[in-house]
Amino acid sequence: MQGLMMNRQLMISSLLTHASQNHHDTEIVSRLPVGATHRYTYSDAHRRSRQLVRVLLALGVKAEDRIGTLAWNTHRHFEIYYAVSGMAAICHTINPRLFPEQIAYIANHADDRFIFFDVNFTKLVETLAPLCPTVKGWIALCQREEMPECAIPNLLCYEDLMAAQSDDYEWPEFDENTASSLCYTSGTTGNPKGVLYSHRSTVLHAYGSSVPDGLGLSARDCILPVVPMFHVNAWGLPYACALNGAKLVLPGPHLDGASLHSMFEEEGVTMSAGVPTIWLGLLNHLQENKLKLSTVKRLVIGGSAAPPAMIRSFDDLFGVTVLHAWGMTEMSPLGTVNTYKKKHLTLPAKDRDRIRLNQGRSIFGVEMKITDSDGNALPHDGKAFGDLLVRGPWITSGYFRSEGGEALVDGWFPTGDVATIDADGYMQITDRSKDVIKSGGEWISSIDLENIAVAHPAVAEAAVIGAVHPKWDERPLLVVIKKAGKDVTREDLIAFYEGKVAKWWIPDDVIFVDELPHTATGKLSKLQLRERLSDYRFPGA
Ligand code: ADP
Repeated sequence: MQGLMMNRQLMISSLLTHASQNHHDTEIVSRLPVGATHRYTYSDAHRRSRQLVRVLLALGVKAEDRIGTLAWNTHRHFEIYYAVSGMAAICHTINPRLFPEQIAYIANHADDRFIFFDVNFTKLVETLAPLCPTVKGWIALCQREEMPECAIPNLLCYEDLMAAQSDDYEWPEFDENTASSLCYTSGTTGNPKGVLYSHRSTVLHAYGSSVPDGLGLSARDCILPVVPMFHVNAWGLPYACALNGAKLVLPGPHLDGASLHSMFEEEGVTMSAGVPTIWLGLLNHLQENKLKLSTVKRLVIGGSAAPPAMIRSFDDLFGVTVLHAWGMTEMSPLGTVNTYKKKHLTLPAKDRDRIRLNQGRSIFGVEMKITDSDGNALPHDGKAFGDLLVRGPWITSGYFRSEGGEALVDGWFPTGDVATIDADGYMQITDRSKDVIKSGGEWISSIDLENIAVAHPAVAEAAVIGAVHPKWDERPLLVVIKKAGKDVTREDLIAFYEGKVAKWWIPDDVIFVDELPHTATGKLSKLQLRERLSDYRFPGA
């Protein structure tokens, strides 16, 4: 027997309609790449998004067409998100930090029809235009008087196009499984692969991420996504904020500590989200200038492991709760968030501390399991570690155009992470499967060793890789950037590990460097670091 409930389709456009009706005067504030701060409301965004659909229709855009963006977090990018998906076309956000050849590969693979771009990417677009024959027009996200002087063919002006259209448009309702947006993984190995989200997966992810033990969003929040809208849809925040009617502050390209601090204070930001590198910049700025955070209550840190020292600094020095979150492009991206359970609240501080450092519990909708190398399920005892697999309604079932072959193993998506899960459901990433250090047949977690190193007062950033060793196959090599004005020796750092990990985990050597390689999404690139250090040999080995 079937239930007798309405089968309304889960539509992305309904998020904005809801925000516009119920939070009409809640603001969306943008610090634009050029020009002043822009302010308007959900009701304005709703009107302008429908106007933008008219623009797209006038340009000949049809359902299923891929529409690219090379853009920072701004109100115009927000309008593109809703207009493109809302008319059943596909919003393809492209990471402008990639090399031009990679961007051209992605735009051609996606077969992008039009690409919207921020004017500070004009040079990049000049390089890309001849490499992207399917792109019929390049739309600069600016007013007429801000249009760049350049050699881009079929160049159009966003605000001119908007001015020529009315907002007379009704959002259509169609199958919720229709593709809505497309994001390519960074492709640290092989070509980038496209993850194709649907209306259903996007709306469910917005619900799932909002719950109190998820990101805990509400209409009383003011949220500043530092995570770019070209990085897994800014972790879904442009959707979840509309669902909750939260005020949204979009920082454009202004992501340094000083800019973030001023936006936090001026707009009354209560929650923000970004990768650890960003928060390192903010922490340094706050400490150097003896500043406080007067309104921020929660910071979501994810994308790579939040170092324990960072979690503690925000809590102890600034009264900010860090929500350590884990996920990936293929998961829309949210999988787990670290929050306490009731029984933890009465624990002594040091036991609670241990809990808040892992990647957290899965939000409802995400199932997780760990397996050994033969695919056998391992116990959730907090000790056994193995390959982490996930499934759920906002997790990919395959890549766009079947790139890279079968994505699933028996209906589960292998994350490429190695993890433990404890009896309470808390998951801890011990490594990327390709970064685990294999010493004499045993596994050493590079992340654990990095976390210890960054807790040293003289260490600004640290990476640990497995370097070849004639006897043990691989041994841990610690690569460190010292804090400005601080000194520390190889011996000090090696001694710093004593008593914190098993003796055979302690790095065999330390190298000091001025900078470490990062990927286009701001993560430490162990792949590049291993390549750079491929000639390295341990002393005496
Ligand atoms: P890309 O590196 O291609 O941008 P993602 O942004 O999808 O890809 O990265 C997903 C990966 O990032 C995860 O599989 C995991 O290895 C790592 N990651 C994300 N969040 C965390 C976290 N909180 N702790 C440790 N690793 C994380």
